[in-house]
Amino acid sequence: MKAAVLREVGKPLQIEDVSIGKPGPREVLIRTKAAGVCHSDLHFVEGSYSHPLPAVLGHESAGIVEAVGSEVRTVKVGDHVITCLNPYCGHCEVCLTGHMNLCISPETKRGKGEEPRLFREDLSGPNGERTGDTKMAQFLNLSSFAEMMLVHEHACVAIRKDMPFDRAALIGCSVMTGVGSVVHTSNVRPGETVAVIGCGGVGLATINGAAIAGAGRIIAIDRVPAKLELAKTFGATDVIDAGAVDDVAKAVVELTSGGVQHSFEAIGLKATAEASFKMLRRGGTANVIGMIPVGTKIELHGVDFLGERRIQGSYMGSNRFPVDMPRLVDAYMAGKLKLDELISRRIRLEEVNSAFDELKRGELARSVIVFD
Ligand SMILES: [Zn+2]
Ligand SMILES: [Zn+2]
Repeated sequence: MKAAVLREVGKPLQIEDVSIGKPGPREVLIRTKAAGVCHSDLHFVEGSYSHPLPAVLGHESAGIVEAVGSEVRTVKVGDHVITCLNPYCGHCEVCLTGHMNLCISPETKRGKGEEPRLFREDLSGPNGERTGDTKMAQFLNLSSFAEMMLVHEHACVAIRKDMPFDRAALIGCSVMTGVGSVVHTSNVRPGETVAVIGCGGVGLATINGAAIAGAGRIIAIDRVPAKLELAKTFGATDVIDAGAVDDVAKAVVELTSGGVQHSFEAIGLKATAEASFKMLRRGGTANVIGMIPVGTKIELHGVDFLGERRIQGSYMGSNRFPVDMPRLVDAYMAGKLKLDELISRRIRLEEVNSAFDELKRGELARSVIVFD
């Protein structure tokens, strides 16, 4: 099958022929129909996060179940599915206490002695015969930039078949992350005030989630005026152009006469993470969603904790994805969740590098790779 491979940090992805294994007892083979190009992929291309290489990237996808292993019970052949990059075992401490998004049980992956899920056949014998295959690392348990995916059954969920694949794919990462941060991680209640820093795919989904949750004031913050305009259609009641004010946190505190109850950092920078805490009113909660580069430290004023201000991480929207994702599909079909506006371009797998270039330029863009 064709797949987009990262061989070296900082280099473009290469389209290569990659082989995929047969489903093990609890595994599912999925024909990929759509895969979003997410900022997190770019973090690994640029090296601010590291991953074993070569790797097939991609982690925001939807497809059709092609084959299932002998013990699979959650999906069947022909099901339309959304994937999730955090597979869960279902019986460890975090799974049993309702935090399945934090499960790191090794049983959802293939172990060291087992055949890799993805590999490249090595036909370099003297007469072109197969010698030793090269392992290709699976990215975030999925590797969606490929015509097929082989995943644990707890890394996907079946959805209704009238849901378009390109929009379903977005629910697999950015939309779950944004909406989940509002409704699960920070538990926004009707009428509360919210600020969102960064209006890319995740930030817009966060704004949309806050609107669905019934937040009162929703303040969108970005440097790109076009993104702020789009934020309004997602439910922002106020916008702040970060390029036009000296101090974003101060602007939010002034606008809200004391700060917000919930803030969401959806970029992944030291300065914006610190600002997310500074803009809280007493008792408020800051949620860091963005991927802050490894090694970066965040500095806060200790005295602010006296006002019971909190700062916390939010990973994949603290999801319970087998329940959440089908609900998000229903919310889209009912016209409550906005997905159409998030997609700026539908591209072929071969065009994946151009999508990264757009992300790097900070453009209003979320490209979705579509497969026939
Ligand atoms: Zn993502
Ligand atoms: Zn678990």
